[in-house]
Amino acid sequence: MSSVVRKPKSSAVSHRLLVRALLKWFTRHARDLPWRRTLDPYAIWVSEIMLQQTQVKTVIPYFERWLVALPDVVKLAALPADRLHKLWEGLGYYTRVRNLQRAARQIVAERKGRFPADFDAILALPGIGRYTAGAIASIAFNQPRPLVDGNVVRVLARLFAIRGDPKDRRVAEKFWLLATDLVATAARLNPVTLPAGSRFLLAGNCSALNQSLMELGATVCTPVSPRCSDCPLQDSCAARRTGRIDHFPQTARRPRATRRRFVALVVQRAGKVLVRQRPANVVNAHLWEFPNVEVDLAETEPSAAAARMLQLKLLDVRALATVRHSITRYRISVECFAATLKGRASHSAGVWKSPEQLKELAFTAAHQKVARQAGLI
Ligand code: SF4
Repeated sequence: MSSVVRKPKSSAVSHRLLVRALLKWFTRHARDLPWRRTLDPYAIWVSEIMLQQTQVKTVIPYFERWLVALPDVVKLAALPADRLHKLWEGLGYYTRVRNLQRAARQIVAERKGRFPADFDAILALPGIGRYTAGAIASIAFNQPRPLVDGNVVRVLARLFAIRGDPKDRRVAEKFWLLATDLVATAARLNPVTLPAGSRFLLAGNCSALNQSLMELGATVCTPVSPRCSDCPLQDSCAARRTGRIDHFPQTARRPRATRRRFVALVVQRAGKVLVRQRPANVVNAHLWEFPNVEVDLAETEPSAAAARMLQLKLLDVRALATVRHSITRYRISVECFAATLKGRASHSAGVWKSPEQLKELAFTAAHQKVARQAGLI
C-alpha cells in the first residue's frame, strides 16, 4: 500500500488515515538520532531540553558528552554548578540547565532518583512545560499525550489550513486539540514495527506519532520550500490543494530587530586576564565574561568610552574583532579590544585568571567567541 493518503471523506476517517500514513512514514524515514536509541526517560528529557531553541546538529555532541559525564539523575543532582555550566557552555539559555539540575535534585529527594512516569508528576518538575511533559510521556512511556512545537504547528496549520496566529491562546488550543486527537487515534491502531536492522527504540504508536509530526516538520514540511512530493500527507493537505502553502501558519509578524552595541576589553597583566562572573538573576547568570559595557550606536571612540565607564586605565589598546550574535529581537555586536592595564583594577572590574584557569570557566556564548578571537581558548 502506498504511504500517500487520499483525500479524506470525514474527519474521523481522515485522522485514522493520516495517522497510519505518518506512522508508516516515520518508521521508514526518520533520522537516526542518538536520543532515538534509548527509552530512558532521563536521556529523553535531557535531549528535549537541549533541543529547545537549538538545532539538532548542534545538540548531538552535547547530548553524547552529557550522557557520558552524567549518565543518570543522581549524577546530575550532585554535580557542582561550575562543572554543570561548563558542560552546557555554548548551548545558551542557561536557565534550562539550572532547571534540569533543580528537577534532578527534586527527583532524588522525593523519588529516590527514579524518573516519574506519571504525566502530572512530570509536568510538576522545574523547567518542564506542557510540550516537554508530552514529549517525555509519549516518547519514553508511550502515553497518548499530545505535543505541539513549531514544527508540529507548521504541519498541522498547512494540513488543515488552520487560520489565525498560533501564538494566540484560542488558536493554540486548536493545535493542541488536533494533536490530542491524532495521538489518541495512534494509540488505538495496531502497533507499528521498525524495519529489520533499525537502531531506533520505539515505545509504541504514541511515541511514533508525536515524533512523526515533529520529524515531518523538520525534514519535509520545512518553513521554506517544503518537499511536498515526498510528503506522506500530500493528497490530504489543504494548503497544498489550494496552492496556499505560504499562507500557513499565519504567525504574526515579529517586532523589528533592535541593534545593540557592546565593547569588551581583554585586559592582561603579568600573564593573567581580567574576567568577571555575571550575578544571579540576570540573563546568563553565573557565567563568565570579559569586562564589557553597552555603548551608544554612534560612539566613535568605543574602547576609550568602555575604559572610562569601567574605570580602567589601559595601554597598548588594539582592536581584536567584532563578534555578532542574536538574543530574541536584539542583534548584538560586541567589539573586542585587547589591552594591558596601567595601575590597578578595582575589585568590581573582575578577577585575574591564568589562561589555564580560563579553560575551566563557562563563558557566555558571545564571550566564548571573544576568548577565541583573543587566542585564550
Ligand atoms: Fe507540508 Fe507539503 Fe506535506 Fe502539506 S503536502 S503537509 S505543505 S510538506
